[in-house]
Amino acid sequence: MTTERTYIMVKPDGVARGLVGEIIKRFENKGFKLLGIKMLQADEQLITKHYEEHIGKPFFPKIVKYILSGPVVGMVWQGKGVVAYGRVMLGKTDPLKSEPGTIRGDFGIDSGRNVVHGSDSVASAEREINLWFPEGVKDYPRALDNIIYE
Ligand code: ADP
Ligand code: MG
Repeated sequence: MTTERTYIMVKPDGVARGLVGEIIKRFENKGFKLLGIKMLQADEQLITKHYEEHIGKPFFPKIVKYILSGPVVGMVWQGKGVVAYGRVMLGKTDPLKSEPGTIRGDFGIDSGRNVVHGSDSVASAEREINLWFPEGVKDYPRALDNIIYE
């Protein structure tokens, strides 16, 4: 099963710090396949939809302001178990609780500046991909798939 997809987004702090390539590199090195990528300045409506599960929480206005603060780089990555692997590669929400070797563990300090977003379930991933890539993304053949998967 290699058609699983996740939505990974470099947040404005990650873009401003020049970490886009570093994050792409980690997913490429792992063997995942990049299906879509775009830089955009999100508006409040899009961010609110993206984080709708957090509406009403004390930190909600802070997240909206944070994601509005600059461009983001949204990506769709595909591969076996990519949703769960993506969360492992990101680390925990709080960088302090994130192991070294994870993106947040290596590059973050505060939860409110934690560099990257990753879908937390296959259902969330589908919802987020439709939200950020309404035009859709296309799969393509890759010879490497025969080497990476048993
Ligand atoms: P995750 O991104 O790990 O799935 P959540 O979905 O719980 O985390 O929260 C969404 C985002 O909101 C987090 O990545 C983080 O940027 C921000 N956030 C969450 N909790 C806090 C908090 N207590 N203080 C500030 N920002 C927070
Ligand atoms: Mg989340």
